[in-house]
Amino acid sequence: MKPKHTLKLRFLGAYAGVTGSKTHIQWGKHQYLIDCGLFQGPKEVKEQNWAELPIDAKALSAVILTHAHLDHTGYLPRLYRQGFRGPVYCSEGTAELAKIILMDSAYLEEELADYAQKTGYSRHKNPQPLFTTRDAEDVIKLFQPKPRNEWLELDETLSLRFLRAGHIIGSSFVQLRFQQDQKARTLSFTGDIGHNRSMILKGPEPITDTDVLVLESTYGDRLHPQTDGCTLLGQYLARALKRQGVVVIPAFAVGRSQEIVYMIGHLERRGIIPQVPVFLDSPMSKRALDIFFSREEDQTVRSSFRQDPDSFFPKNFETIESADQSMLITMMDGPAIVVSASGMLSGGRVLHHLKRRLPDARSMVIFSGYQAEGTKGRFLQDNSASLKTLRIHHEEVEVAAEIVTIEHLSSHADYSEILQWLEGLNQAPEQVLLNHGQGIAQDSLAEAIRKRFGWKVTPAHEQASWEFFGP
Ligand SMILES: [Zn+2]
Repeated sequence: MKPKHTLKLRFLGAYAGVTGSKTHIQWGKHQYLIDCGLFQGPKEVKEQNWAELPIDAKALSAVILTHAHLDHTGYLPRLYRQGFRGPVYCSEGTAELAKIILMDSAYLEEELADYAQKTGYSRHKNPQPLFTTRDAEDVIKLFQPKPRNEWLELDETLSLRFLRAGHIIGSSFVQLRFQQDQKARTLSFTGDIGHNRSMILKGPEPITDTDVLVLESTYGDRLHPQTDGCTLLGQYLARALKRQGVVVIPAFAVGRSQEIVYMIGHLERRGIIPQVPVFLDSPMSKRALDIFFSREEDQTVRSSFRQDPDSFFPKNFETIESADQSMLITMMDGPAIVVSASGMLSGGRVLHHLKRRLPDARSMVIFSGYQAEGTKGRFLQDNSASLKTLRIHHEEVEVAAEIVTIEHLSSHADYSEILQWLEGLNQAPEQVLLNHGQGIAQDSLAEAIRKRFGWKVTPAHEQASWEFFGP
């Protein structure tokens, strides 16, 4: 007789917040991790990346990734260090993006440790990087990209499939199908969900059937305003550029920044904003753009960009890779637009731009994505009306610039879009679990789903360990 299995699921991250996504799955003798992300944000959150994992990395049969963002992939090099040598399954787009994101992150880690060592700016005697470029290179060799919409057998009772999630290039829902007693049961894991409002990315595919659904809830308590994000961007940009200001737009280097660049070009071509120098400032901006344009299956804008860059980019557009070039931009006079990496202002080049532009009342900062609690970005966003100074690199920087937020530019669905996407399910899942959201966002989305569909929903912050499909 065949042994009977129970599916054991345990959230190791992103169950009471939005970073550090890691979900441990055990089925029979096999163990898997869905996503392997870094904790990001304030120091006390980042500290968790140094804590020991409550699982044995060597015992994992595979890691499965929803998408390439660091809060879903950034722990992989540390997992490798702990002895993980199995395959990393993901979509083809995710594999390409994750490689540059991981290398960039490893490089930054080394640079920070180096800097701390030289300046003595660290509590630690001998500051170490969380992981090295060598660790990142090693774990990248384990990637096994797979096409979407095809079942892949992981063992004789378990198979895996990726479906388009519409959040960034390559982003995918993960479906696991468990066979037992002639019955197939499905666990679906959304990772981050996109929406249908993007000008350059296709929206999420529906999931029609699942027994258990693990659903993200970043915007579980928020509604994006109904006006069109591009129109609003045009209004803000026009205002700041008219007063010769420099506009700083913090954005994830991979994801929203490509769309924002496209929108700026679009607004320029329609004469809504003037042609001014536009910079995409991130060490990986060029490579991220190249990958962006090579993944046709995710895009709505496929139009011959390679032959005709004018149809995508602003007229005076430049990607900035070197740190020296980036510093040069901080010395430029306006009008200009700088789209800069590190969306939540937790570090990176955007801080240099802010240091220079915040004291100038002609300047503008446009937030375009989710600012997690405790980050500098959230602090600036919440207190922009009353804030006189902001601490950057141990200096108090005067805040005179205009600070605005365009929530529509987020690459996450809001709660009404999530509810709409759930309409695609043919029948009620046995259980819905909400992760990847602050507690209040999880609670609020849970309530909305119960009210609309009457399903059984539990926020992950209430219960992190589960068992399903037992004999
Ligand atoms: Zn994401």
